[in-house]
Amino acid sequence: MSMATTITAAGLNRTGRWLEEPGFGVYVHIPFCLHRCHYCDFNTYASKEASGAQEVHGPYVDALVADIERHGAGNGPATSVFFGGGTPTLLPARDLGRILDAVRASVGIAADAEITVEANPETVDERYFEALLTTGFNRVSIGIQSLVPRVLLGLGRTHSPEVALTALAAARRAGVPDVNADLIYGSQWEEPADWRTSLEGVIEAAPDHISAYALTIEAGTPLATLVTTGRAPDVDPDVQADRYEVAGELLGAAGFERYEISNWARPGRASAHNVLYWSAGDYLGFGAGAHGHLDGTRYWSVRLPRDYIEAASQGRSPEAGRETLEPPERAAEALMLGVRLAGGIDLDAFAHRWGSEALARSLPEIARLEADGLLERAGGWLRATPRGTFLASEIGCRLL
Ligand code: SF4
Repeated sequence: MSMATTITAAGLNRTGRWLEEPGFGVYVHIPFCLHRCHYCDFNTYASKEASGAQEVHGPYVDALVADIERHGAGNGPATSVFFGGGTPTLLPARDLGRILDAVRASVGIAADAEITVEANPETVDERYFEALLTTGFNRVSIGIQSLVPRVLLGLGRTHSPEVALTALAAARRAGVPDVNADLIYGSQWEEPADWRTSLEGVIEAAPDHISAYALTIEAGTPLATLVTTGRAPDVDPDVQADRYEVAGELLGAAGFERYEISNWARPGRASAHNVLYWSAGDYLGFGAGAHGHLDGTRYWSVRLPRDYIEAASQGRSPEAGRETLEPPERAAEALMLGVRLAGGIDLDAFAHRWGSEALARSLPEIARLEADGLLERAGGWLRATPRGTFLASEIGCRLL
């Protein structure tokens, strides 16, 4: 057993509950993928788009390390670190370890921090996961999306269901303490039985956490072109609502608790990093197009990897912009994020953190949402009702 496999995966908040002091996070963006999935609008570049991406990977890792070192200490230690993308596991595990070492040396990482890396099934095996554990990662999030070939094809995923399940099994065999499986439901190619097949197959693979997102058609993606030109039907929100109910039934029966609209976990295995976002916590963002949030100021980096590399290699900040929210906006945003959590927000603690005036300003709209059956109060906590869970974006718009 490697030394890193003994690292506790306890983290600071694995309960999935909103916290007044949610910790401090670090996000690292790796903007490279093997190819572009049809639905994806993330800031990522497939090899052929990046004119020799393999040659970009090394300088990009150097740039990340330089940027993290340039930032220095001052906000840490991090209670959660998340490497997302893109496909971080397209890089050798030792490169991810080098970046993580820079975070550890510069920002600091708490001893019991949750340290996650997103993985694409085609890029990992047991040895790769073992190498990740040795560098200090203790959680992996694997993009499974579906276990039905027709659905994977429609989404533009190039892995098979077998490769996806092999990756999940490899993570378990390697001893990764926390494994998440990402799923997408409600695509145009999915039959009701397909969604059950995906859920049942993933449940059988015994991950600790499952994220299930309704497919959305993002402007500018190949999928959006198919829909707008009439070559594929649009997604159906009623169908997606049915699929969501099925997810709740099957995952609940298998011992998973829903702690956020799209996230289920075994008890005590909620993602601390996710909860930090929904508790409006602060986090640093490193990498091309990465966003960070510090004490009411949101900032973001240049989107293109080559611009990020150029800035970092010259010792310049790669920041492309920033905006500072006024206290009332921050409080409203925190409210909107917090009610996404199944347990909702502790209103007394919310008033303590954001001020009773900020809460008082939102109370009339909260009352209207309660009257409409979208929000409810229980024991001093404000949360979405089952109906409100389906209409989270409406709640968000009304609270902001
Ligand atoms: S693997 Fe993920 S980040 Fe990469 S193109 Fe597909 S959906 Fe986008």
